[in-house]
Amino acid sequence: MLAYLATLFFIFGTVVGSFLNVVILRYDRMPLTGRSGCPSCGRVLGWKELVPVLSFLIQRGRCRGCDHPISRQYPLVEVATGLVFLAIFFFLIDFYQVSNIYEIPLIFFGSSFLILASVWGLLVAIFVYDLYHKIIPDDLVFPFIFLSLLWLFHSVSPDEFLSFPSLWDLFIGPFMFLFFASLWFFSKGTWMGFGDAKLALGMGFLLGFYYGLSAFMLSFWIGAGVALALLAFRSVVNDFGSQKAPAFLKNIGLKSEIPFAPFLIIGTALAFFFHMDAFGIISLFGI
Ligand SMILES: [Zn+2]
Repeated sequence: MLAYLATLFFIFGTVVGSFLNVVILRYDRMPLTGRSGCPSCGRVLGWKELVPVLSFLIQRGRCRGCDHPISRQYPLVEVATGLVFLAIFFFLIDFYQVSNIYEIPLIFFGSSFLILASVWGLLVAIFVYDLYHKIIPDDLVFPFIFLSLLWLFHSVSPDEFLSFPSLWDLFIGPFMFLFFASLWFFSKGTWMGFGDAKLALGMGFLLGFYYGLSAFMLSFWIGAGVALALLAFRSVVNDFGSQKAPAFLKNIGLKSEIPFAPFLIIGTALAFFFHMDAFGIISLFGI
């Protein structure tokens, strides 16, 4: 029964993911409502072409009208959102420390799921949007901050809905916000965007003190790792003078703007869903 429910939440996630694709694609460009069409031939898509993940697989990643390749962003965001919904489902069973899903009052499970699904849906959209446009839209990050603050006041007990968080948990968000905001201010926006500061505020509210700091450390480590890998890869590409190298690799330099939100969000996911703790990792190395 648990596996059956979990599958339903995964499928629900892919449907929400398909809506997030529309938000990412149309935000600030065109109205969110209106039928979806092929960006290449403009043909309006039928319901058979709008089934999350499956349509992409059945059509082998091509438009049925003009055979133009469909962006892999669509199935990737759908699967990612499905996995996130699945993770929230198991997170809540763990969060309320119950052995069976039925021990959580339905109204509590439902409202908690609604808050967390919205929080993570927004994070998926911010992740992809920042990757493409290197900007975090306020319309996505402000609701994320508000819902994360609501989650912070959410009780861990299945008997009551709200409880007051510790001051440490309450203030780690504003502290991380000030840190990122000062990086943004003193570097005149070249090291960090102001959007990253707003994202960090919500991260702190969502994760609390310990996991907030942990996610913060993890994001920097992963970000530094990826930046070094890209730089190393670029120097290899330059040494061989390859003309076949992808254009984006040729343009990477120490000063190039690498979007930071995806790293913050990966760090948040590792801390939130996997309880990954940067300080435990540090103590492993005996530092
Ligand atoms: Zn087409």
